[in-house]
Amino acid sequence: MATIPENLHRTEARIEAACAKAGRSAQSVTLLVVSKTFPSMAVREAHAAGARRFGENYVQEALDKIEDLTDIRSGVEWHLIGPLQSNKTKPVAEAFDWVHSVDRLKIAQRLSEQRPAGMPPLNVCLQVNISGEASKSGVAPADVETLAREVAALPRLALRGLMAVPEPEGDFEAQRIPHRALAALQARLISNGLTQLDTLSIGMSADLEAAIAEGSTMVRIGSAIFGTRSKA
Ligand SMILES: *Cc1c(COP(=O)(O)O)cnc(C)c1O
Repeated sequence: MATIPENLHRTEARIEAACAKAGRSAQSVTLLVVSKTFPSMAVREAHAAGARRFGENYVQEALDKIEDLTDIRSGVEWHLIGPLQSNKTKPVAEAFDWVHSVDRLKIAQRLSEQRPAGMPPLNVCLQVNISGEASKSGVAPADVETLAREVAALPRLALRGLMAVPEPEGDFEAQRIPHRALAALQARLISNGLTQLDTLSIGMSADLEAAIAEGSTMVRIGSAIFGTRSKA
């Protein structure tokens, strides 16, 4: 089995190749290493190999890792990419650099109120239910602009862009469709005045090439780096 550093470098090479194919610079896409379910030691290994941004889904698991890894804290960013309940917003506002999964105003308001004064504004993305399944989290595309304006007005948050977790598709052309829809939605927000939006958080291990072809600026990669997860 390949090691974490080997997988990390292969993933970076995939990103570079996808950027080249799309006529984009390799610096236009940021790699978020998704470490959910993997231990602090695995994060440490990825960090030693050059990874600097880590994504987590489960608040308590993430807080434990952030605590284990205090010695490298100042050089890394922690991103929450999983669902956030309103009773967990305080530790998230205090410990994370980014939250990608904001999908309602109440969560955003709490994060803004609870972000400590000494820290920079918390970076947030709005999670959009781009494939339209009833069961998935995310704001409906038709409601994104209203929510974006409300979130952009909150003092302790920096609204950075949109995020989505599309339905898995095997085929490259099929994978592009939801990514293209999210990119179009973001372009519309920008042309309607939300000009600070600079982040399109799409692309996972199985579809990063399609996401980059459609304008992703941050890919969230777990299994291609750490291997298959035993739980979701
Ligand atoms: C788990 C997860 C990822 C990473 O998925 P992989 O297929 O392992 O790369 C990305 N985004 C979110 C929201 C996730 O939950």
